[in-house]
Amino acid sequence: MSSHDEERQLLAEADRRALQYLDSIATRPVFPPLAAIAALRAFDEALPEHGSPSSQVLQRLDDIGSAATVASNGPRYFGFVIGATLPAAAAAERLVLAWDQCASSFDNSPVADTLERIAGRWIVELLGLPSSSAVGFGTSATASTLACLSAARRALLARRGWDFDGDGLAGAPEVRVVISASCHVTVQKALRILGFGIKRLIVAPTDAQGRIDPTQLPELDELSILCLQAGEVNTGEFDPFAELIPRAKAAGAWVHVDGAFGLWARASSSAALADGVELADSWTTDGHKWLNTPYDGAMAICRDADALASAMNCDAVYASASKDAQKNLTLEFSRRARGVPIWAALSSLGRAGLREMIDRHIRQASHLATQLRAAGYQVLNRVVLNQVLLRADSDRQTLAIRVAAQSSGQVWFGPTVWQGRPAFRLSVSSWRTSDADIETLIEVLRELKRTTPA
Ligand SMILES: *Cc1c(COP(=O)(O)O)cnc(C)c1O
Repeated sequence: MSSHDEERQLLAEADRRALQYLDSIATRPVFPPLAAIAALRAFDEALPEHGSPSSQVLQRLDDIGSAATVASNGPRYFGFVIGATLPAAAAAERLVLAWDQCASSFDNSPVADTLERIAGRWIVELLGLPSSSAVGFGTSATASTLACLSAARRALLARRGWDFDGDGLAGAPEVRVVISASCHVTVQKALRILGFGIKRLIVAPTDAQGRIDPTQLPELDELSILCLQAGEVNTGEFDPFAELIPRAKAAGAWVHVDGAFGLWARASSSAALADGVELADSWTTDGHKWLNTPYDGAMAICRDADALASAMNCDAVYASASKDAQKNLTLEFSRRARGVPIWAALSSLGRAGLREMIDRHIRQASHLATQLRAAGYQVLNRVVLNQVLLRADSDRQTLAIRVAAQSSGQVWFGPTVWQGRPAFRLSVSSWRTSDADIETLIEVLRELKRTTPA
């Protein structure tokens, strides 16, 4: 058999196994059983001196590995906001793997460059952001936030005549950063890596739903970055952009919005939740969460395209490219064409299909809140989006119910702490989640509430 025949056979076998896995996605335990996790020990061997046939490598991976997966690509995973993978996006991803493009620039991949430009244009349009914004397709909201915040600092310092690229930070005027008291931990990570210093961050107090209280917004000036959020991680709430952003801009500050999942509300009938978000300077959002595209696909979006392109520039004598080539908009120099599954998802859904999916999740979350309240749970948030924050009668009962639900294998959701006390959080974000799956979740939680000691 030729090596090409072997490759074909191997990939066909991988596809067969992948399809078999997907066939089980709605019925397998949502979190893997302990025995499957224990069996992962079989992988723990010394680096082999000599390789095994690829077909055996695949077989072991599937036989041992598939059993220990979390069915986050399934319909009843309600942890975090993780989404699943839409069929069109999964199919595009398979083709992208066969292409094996380095999506850094047009010269490296005309098709990747073209499709990512178009996907970027569509996203900016869907989210109602300025059409001249630059869109970099990064690995994560974390990395995209890092890119945006470095562009922000560089641009603010440049306005003061400071050459950040040449002189760095030694002796530079201090750029102050204001974050929300409920700022996502990854924004804090990006700020820490950039050298802002966690202790130097200025914290804006939030209200009971985790939104910055405009009456308590700290002082801002032309050397300030204000970090806002679209979609608070527990409540799904939005900072009052229309009130905050004009004030920040009038003071000369740069406004960045972390919209990892919540920014997609802009593509829904609930777009008004994020009114005014378009006034900011930069935004990050994920494809791999609510858009239901594969990991790891996220976007750094910057109103001043040059600000992002200058901060992220990575031209070399042997690798020059247009200013807005992807390698000049993200942290990566080499990467796969991660914008292509995002393009495919948008192509297959269209504006109406995306709106319908986001609307459905918001409606399902609201139904969950109503039914679970009736089942005796405290619903701690207003449930404006896809997040439902819950507590039972006591901390002990809250904990016991979550653990029992997780080990039921029927559903999975994670813990959180809200206003100092344990809670749990249901996120509805998978395209696969039907109304019947929501009823299953309600049934599991209703039964556990009845049978778990308070
Ligand atoms: C998930 C999340 C992030 C981080 O996104 P990654 O793509 O996982 O890096 C940031 N902010 C919020 C609100 C999130 O939910």
